[in-house]
Amino acid sequence: MKLLYEGKAKKLFKGPQKGTIVQYFKDDATAFNAQKKDTVIGKGIINNYISSRIFQAINQTDIPHHFIKRLSEREQLIKEVEIIPIEIIIRKVAAGTICKRLGIKEGQVLPNTLVEFCLKNDELSDPIISREHIEMMQLANNFEMETIISTAFRISDFLTGLFSMIQIQLIDFKLEFGRFYNSNGFHEVILADEISPDSCRLWDIKTKKKLDKDRFRRNLGGLIEAYTDIANRMSIKLPELNVEK
Ligand code: 5GP
Repeated sequence: MKLLYEGKAKKLFKGPQKGTIVQYFKDDATAFNAQKKDTVIGKGIINNYISSRIFQAINQTDIPHHFIKRLSEREQLIKEVEIIPIEIIIRKVAAGTICKRLGIKEGQVLPNTLVEFCLKNDELSDPIISREHIEMMQLANNFEMETIISTAFRISDFLTGLFSMIQIQLIDFKLEFGRFYNSNGFHEVILADEISPDSCRLWDIKTKKKLDKDRFRRNLGGLIEAYTDIANRMSIKLPELNVEK
């Protein structure tokens, strides 16, 4: 398969049909804009299974997305989109960079669900940007931004419900959107990328144990165990992972 793009955690290959892509999940883990790097054997497989299941669940709604089907342990078939170079972050509870930036205590429930945007640019370490920056840089038009924001809030409600059913608290998450062009040259903005414990903060509702990539970022250990715990709670049957205990 022809490699089209290699990112920090995934590779994209040309898909079998026109307008399709094969998204391959790697075991590479990076944090702090790749200053911290490692390989966590099995992570890509678990993320592929969890993200596939979440996108399938989103099919219960009318939210358009890129996911077609999971092909194998590490691969999914997706629709080809032009990625909008913005990360949209939704926060319900303070954690991560908002605590560092604003001095807010981790774990504080935010009075309102908060939306933030970052520019997707590794060289600049994905800086936080405003809607005015997005407009100035012409990264997305107003109509696209309204779609992105309203969809992100709907995903937030949907994921909050999905995770609370399995005793997990959704703290925050990151989404990416892309332009899906139809044959007439018109496009629709659809949800893309992945939704996994790499892109969401997920805590056990009762114990507040971190079940996400913060285990890697903060050297807490037990990342595979935590991701497997999420998969088990979602009743996902994972393949045998060749992970040394
Ligand atoms: P923070 O800004 O606190 O680092 O991240 C907020 C949320 O967005 C977290 O759930 C984090 O996992 C996710 N996030 C932010 N930037 C990225 C990124 O570049 N890649 C991934 N996978 N997730 C991100």
